[in-house]
Amino acid sequence: MWPFKRSKKDKKKYTNSIVPLLFVSRWEEIAHCRADQNLQNLHSIEDAKQKYLSACSPCPVCGKSAVQLSWLYYLDPENRWPMQGGWMTVCDQDEVEVDFFVEQQEFYSWEIVETERNNTINQTQLKSESETLRGSMSCPKCKRTPQQLSWFWFHSPQKDWEALAGRAGWMSICDVCHIQVEFLPALMS
Ligand SMILES: [Zn+2]
Ligand SMILES: [Zn+2]
Repeated sequence: MWPFKRSKKDKKKYTNSIVPLLFVSRWEEIAHCRADQNLQNLHSIEDAKQKYLSACSPCPVCGKSAVQLSWLYYLDPENRWPMQGGWMTVCDQDEVEVDFFVEQQEFYSWEIVETERNNTINQTQLKSESETLRGSMSCPKCKRTPQQLSWFWFHSPQKDWEALAGRAGWMSICDVCHIQVEFLPALMS
């Protein structure tokens, strides 16, 4: 049958089957963050403007300047990898994201990452290798290059391996910005 059209009934079924945190579009994710007062209250718009206003672009569609755009703190849904958060400017009229300034980025919770990083047995064994150049990503916030970041061997927790979701490999961190920059898994379960 062509053209294929989804019936109204199917459409309804489809909509209902969506898990609440899986958004259909980036714009919906943005709207969700904006409506989250707890998230917004954790971050000061005034500080953000002071820090980023001079680096902001105007809306590429209508040309509104950054002062006329809406500012919000954006945080990725939990299933995103890595999960990013930061300041964003958006044009409501055109429904476009204009600028995004990354303030946080995580592959794993910091608690897990710090535990692994301080695992002296692993890190001592691999010390010489941790000085080998690798990776291609600079810190998304301060732009320090891969060579300027801290590299260490990361091994995800045992329960991940049991669930066949274990990963191990080199990870880079920007200690200045407290951002997990890059993860290069070499082993997976
Ligand atoms: Zn616009
Ligand atoms: Zn940085």
